Amino acid sequence: MDCLFCEIIKGNIPSSKVYEDEYVYAFRDINPQAPVHILVVPKVHISSADEINAENSVYVAKIFEVIPEIAKNESLGGGYRVITNCGADACQSVKHLHFHILGGAQLIEKMG
Ligand code: AMP
Ligand code: ZN
Repeated sequence: MDCLFCEIIKGNIPSSKVYEDEYVYAFRDINPQAPVHILVVPKVHISSADEINAENSVYVAKIFEVIPEIAKNESLGGGYRVITNCGADACQSVKHLHFHILGGAQLIEKMG
């Protein structure tokens, strides 16, 4: 399988890691859209939010347990946005489920 984020998780492609455990890998986005822009991904290949199910949802739960920890470490006490783009209409470009954490400045109100 040819998946960029699976290769990043395996360490075959370098990344700026901010967090890792058994379920979750988090790293800095290569093209940041905010002062803090981190991608949080499951350590199994799930193509998008549309592929979350009862078998793999533990990975999603773990991601959302870790997000507040990352936010704290990144000094995002002022708030942050969590986004996942799912499918073509949402412009998902990497087909491995990922949650963007955006913060470190006042974000614009508009999301679409
Ligand atoms: P999306 O458009 O929601 O699929 O988001 C994919 C994100 O992955 C984009 O914000 C890219 O900047 C980011 N990205 C692509 N390649 C890399 C990479 N090698 N390391 C870190 N982030 C990446
Ligand atoms: Zn993958």
